[in-house]
Amino acid sequence: MSAQPKKKISKVRGKTRRAHWHGALPKLTLCAKCKASKLPHRACPECGYYGRAKVISTKLESKVAKTLEKTKSRITSKPSRIKKTAKPKTTHKTINTPKNTGAEFHTDQE
Ligand SMILES: [Zn+2]
Repeated sequence: MSAQPKKKISKVRGKTRRAHWHGALPKLTLCAKCKASKLPHRACPECGYYGRAKVISTKLESKVAKTLEKTKSRITSKPSRIKKTAKPKTTHKTINTPKNTGAEFHTDQE
């Protein structure tokens, strides 16, 4: 027989205990560069800066770059009415060992 509670916990007592079960909102700070609210110790998603350095590209920048790339390829490539044939997929990669002896590469040996 498993362990049993000594006394019944009433509905109110259980609910009172569970009243404190809730998530907390993240504490936000202001970006030093663009003053947008952001998570502390994270790069700003608005401007991509962490402190004084630009560390990530923002969503807008990547979108612009993607659009530019698309437009470039559209201008340079032939009309895309003909479907491209799919390349045969390689199932495994060969590891280039020194001198390409074809020997198996073991890393767990010491
Ligand atoms: Zn910012």
